[in-house]
Amino acid sequence: SQFYTLTDYPNGLPDRALFTLETQTLPELAEGEVRIRNRWLSVDPYMRGRMSGVRTYVEPFDIGKPMEGGAIGEVIETNDSSLNVGDNVSHMGGWRDIAQLPAQGVTVLPDIDVPEQAYLGVLGMPGMTAWTGLNVIAECKPGDNVLVSAASGAVGSLVVQLAKAKGCHVVGIAGASHKLAWLESLGVEPVSYRERTAQELSDTIKLASPNGIDVYYENVGGICLEAALNQLNEGARIAVCGMIESYNAKTPVPGPSNLAQLVVRKAKMQGFIVTDHWQHYPDFLKEIAPQVAAGKLDYKETVKDGLESTPDAFLELFEGGNIGKMLVKLD
Ligand code: NDP
Repeated sequence: SQFYTLTDYPNGLPDRALFTLETQTLPELAEGEVRIRNRWLSVDPYMRGRMSGVRTYVEPFDIGKPMEGGAIGEVIETNDSSLNVGDNVSHMGGWRDIAQLPAQGVTVLPDIDVPEQAYLGVLGMPGMTAWTGLNVIAECKPGDNVLVSAASGAVGSLVVQLAKAKGCHVVGIAGASHKLAWLESLGVEPVSYRERTAQELSDTIKLASPNGIDVYYENVGGICLEAALNQLNEGARIAVCGMIESYNAKTPVPGPSNLAQLVVRKAKMQGFIVTDHWQHYPDFLKEIAPQVAAGKLDYKETVKDGLESTPDAFLELFEGGNIGKMLVKLD
């Protein structure tokens, strides 16, 4: 089997040469293990945090060991009675073609009429993140004025649609014009952050949301946060989901100079980690999966072909190379 390792922890944007494809002969299955042929691999922004050599909320990748990530595949051999050959499953043995791991970390895909790779995106961890951040953390209510950064990505594109479905006025920040066009087709006011200062972005958000912002769903940080702070209504809530703008920074990034707006506007800003809320995953799936299956919720994928494309797919996340969920498809 083939798998990726990191040869060193990067400083700044990871160099492509740090990702090495290695080959191994897998040992016989131990008691309780399964072997899975992967068909889909997920690459996600949070993986950059696992490349920094320090523990955040998840252990760093071990140098020289197989990297990990969300994956979908088919069980081809099993030494555990809970799984059968032919089962389609999701698990964390990504960044490789064949995964061999304990059965307890492997989940059989629900029997719902959606493409299987949706469980890495709209019906998986990113979808659950959108739902949790909007409903649980930001306590979004019908009629709220909602602002979302990285709004055409895997998480953001579900956030904007869930907020629209609640009857909110929604503004979405994104980069490229085809992303803004998709947001507009979803009934979202699209705003580009490109070539704009924080003040210009703030002015543009005001035009798009004349009644201010009650909920800011934060995926980016940087000028997006600074611009958003200036438009907050009294009692606004900010769900800090991520700050991708700083993930490759070589030195600490200065905070927004207007953070004190939180005081003036009596706003609340709260971070969260989706895995702490996983007990709600069945509720999320019950609510969202039928809407995805019925085509009521839109989602997009950007698909790269072959295991060798995995590092580039990951690195493109930081250049906005994806619309919707970034995925790797294996033969
Ligand atoms: P996306 O699909 O949104 O991909 C990343 C997108 O971020 C890019 O397409 C790009 O879109 C935008 N982006 C990248 N760099 C910058 C930059 N410097 N400035 C502005 N925009 C940038 O990824 P996900 O949906 O998977 O993740 C979105 C966020 O959610 C991330 O911050 C991630 O870390 C976080 N997250 C947090 C979780 C939690 O539990 N708290 C769980 C999962 C994700 P564009 O072209 O518009 O710039």
